[in-house]
Amino acid sequence: MANRPPASGSARVERIPVAVLGATGSVGQRFVSLLADHPWFEPAALTASERSAGRPYGEAVRWVQTEPLPPAAAGMELGPTSPARTAGCPLVFSALDAAVAGPAERAFRDAGHTVVSNARSHRMERLVPLVVPEVNGDHLGLVAEQRRTCGGAGAIVTNPNCSTIGLALALKPLVDAFGVEQAHVVTLQAVSGAGLPGLPGLRILDNVIPFIPDEEEKIEAETQKILGRLEPGGVADHGIRISAQCTRVPVVDGHMLCVSLRLSRRARLPEVREALESFSAEPQALGLPSAPSRPVLLLDAADAPQPRLHRDLERGMAAVVGRLRPCPLFDVKFVVLSHNTLRGAAAGALLVGEQLVARGLLPGRVAPTADRP
Ligand code: NAP
Repeated sequence: MANRPPASGSARVERIPVAVLGATGSVGQRFVSLLADHPWFEPAALTASERSAGRPYGEAVRWVQTEPLPPAAAGMELGPTSPARTAGCPLVFSALDAAVAGPAERAFRDAGHTVVSNARSHRMERLVPLVVPEVNGDHLGLVAEQRRTCGGAGAIVTNPNCSTIGLALALKPLVDAFGVEQAHVVTLQAVSGAGLPGLPGLRILDNVIPFIPDEEEKIEAETQKILGRLEPGGVADHGIRISAQCTRVPVVDGHMLCVSLRLSRRARLPEVREALESFSAEPQALGLPSAPSRPVLLLDAADAPQPRLHRDLERGMAAVVGRLRPCPLFDVKFVVLSHNTLRGAAAGALLVGEQLVARGLLPGRVAPTADRP
């Protein structure tokens, strides 16, 4: 049974201290920005590599966000990425480079932290939930089994690949209503998805690069797990067949996906539209702080969605769908846009953290409630 979230408009709440690992990177900066006024979570520790540790965050970071660096974060001392620096933070958000995330996140779990990770390292492990809160929040049920198996209070929970999140959000209402058997997906992915310092201008300006290492494999495999069925000891794959082709395009933020689907049963276009538009799930029912009011937003303009115009709708948390039409090869086709560093990374991970708290899965912590007079 989920705990109720704090009443909206509540004056003061007891916030849960959290840590951000890899706080200086593209995703880490988003965490720092979003946590500055998060109603449930308080940034209590920021870490990075040994290159940055020991310096004030505001000095070490090369801030690339359009919002100003939060003054409280600017003065925080960056720690090395070690559990010794995050005692007192039951929840840890990881924006670590995948090259170091594997052993680092395991060390935090072993020290009793619940880690919500953006890295690929643990996503496909049997007892590690791979969660889009509106799609498969029930997979968080694996946390208890992971804790039993690992013999501690810690756990690792993962946020999927950034393109996969937008795809899974758009697929879920159709999977539920009609079943989906096959998907053909072509992505147009933003430059911020490549992390800092990013691609050199001479490689990406006036260009499209038709290769992003491991991205197609991640979309094909992770979608199976996200849409799959929770069973004792793991998740049974959904069985959908996906063919993905991924490209990098000269856009700063916002991944687009051109999707064609074969449905399990025939559906008229108005039925597909109704399924997408009416989609709502646990985060909306509970009013979780980072949840969009509409996780799938359908746009009717003939030339929508577009990254620059539409990526920030619903605070960058919606899968924005447009160009819904019949597919002459399969059944239906459309274009999805989702913000890769918000829904696809930091804000999506915060929503996972909120769902963990709301479901009572953070030991000793419940959703904060307003102070009583
Ligand atoms: P990034 O900009 O390269 O940032 C990497 C972070 O990891 C930095 O804070 C860096 O600290 C830290 N780091 C590097 N080596 C380290 C070490 N040896 N020990 C401790 N910390 C170390 O990468 P990003 O784009 O933010 O991505 C972070 C993670 O999220 C990656 O796993 C990525 O695959 C995933 N992800 C990214 C996106 C996206 O759109 N960018 C979306 C979804 C998921 P220093 O500054 O000190 O080097």
